[in-house]
Amino acid sequence: MDVLREMPRLTFFRGRVGLYAILKALDIGPGDEVATQAFTCLAVPEGIMATGAKPVYVDTEAGGVNMCPQDLLRILGPHCKAVVVQHTFGVPAQMGPIREILEERGLPLIEDCCHTYASTYVNQVVGTFGVGAFYSFEWGKPIIAGIGGSAVVNDPALRAKVEEFYRSCQEPGWKTTLKIQIQFQAFMRLYRPEKYWQVRRTFQRLSKSGAAQGNYNPTGEVAADFGLRMAPPLRARLKRKLQDAHAVAQHSRDIAAQYESGVSAVFKRVFVPEGAVPVYARFPLLTDSKPALLEAAEEASVEIADWYKTPIHPLSAEESSSVHYEPGSCPNAESLSHRLVSLPINQKVDARTVQSIVEFLNGF
Ligand SMILES: *Cc1c(COP(=O)(O)O)cnc(C)c1O
Repeated sequence: MDVLREMPRLTFFRGRVGLYAILKALDIGPGDEVATQAFTCLAVPEGIMATGAKPVYVDTEAGGVNMCPQDLLRILGPHCKAVVVQHTFGVPAQMGPIREILEERGLPLIEDCCHTYASTYVNQVVGTFGVGAFYSFEWGKPIIAGIGGSAVVNDPALRAKVEEFYRSCQEPGWKTTLKIQIQFQAFMRLYRPEKYWQVRRTFQRLSKSGAAQGNYNPTGEVAADFGLRMAPPLRARLKRKLQDAHAVAQHSRDIAAQYESGVSAVFKRVFVPEGAVPVYARFPLLTDSKPALLEAAEEASVEIADWYKTPIHPLSAEESSSVHYEPGSCPNAESLSHRLVSLPINQKVDARTVQSIVEFLNGF
């Protein structure tokens, strides 16, 4: 069976609903804690908090973008019932040490595979290490279907419970689906790496006004998203797109190799664990001049992304208490959000795009 091209059975309105479905199937709810890493996006705590559980945050590795195994030991308390491990930008987390800790404690592992479906760790593909994994298919992810996500459940007993939840979910209304479809078509037509900043400004304006389906829901209430499946036309698109899953992964490897050899060593690369083979969603780099670099990139219409700008993107320090993140508690993640930028890898990136980005960076 070809796991990369396989159409997931359990597709939801968004990736975070897949996370929520797995947590619910594990009977996680009020009074429980779920550990996840800082240097993540609001979608993850949103999925955890929709169950009533409280997210607790593990710091990132020094020089890396993923969960630090030693810091995980610090955070695991008696109320922690599951751990969400994110493979940020497609770099596999340190699954060996993390799995050892979780097995010893008897805690379930859930993988956040929103940035990659093809990376491997010691020859094993991500998404197969724990009880289950979740994926996202919105803008910026390796496979784009519009908005949507999936849950893949490796544990058979748990899968039956997630399927039961799936059957109880509804399809989104036609207006929401139409809005997503229009957004998808507009994005496909307008986006090119040289148009990144322009498209981004437009999308931010439209989602603020409610004309576009934004990425995040208001905190403090459980959004209707958590009872919704992915709409059938988006599912059909996902199925078609997955036919190209191997070509998309190969394109990512090729583009990443060009960045790797082209970009000056002044921009430090992030830590990749031994045995990990990343298939990147975006190519991450570290810089000590992030604000100036981004300003110059926007000026020159060169696509360089700023996320994650804060430990729980896009929340500011003041706002992050709403998802139980205490400012200062994860110093590596905070420093990372001030230093990390990323380069595009998607299907519209070609050798010429790479050349212009490399020239821009090396001349900065
Ligand atoms: C995009 C993303 C999610 C959530 O995906 P949605 O489909 O927006 O819910 C979760 N985790 C990470 C790391 C992501 O990048």
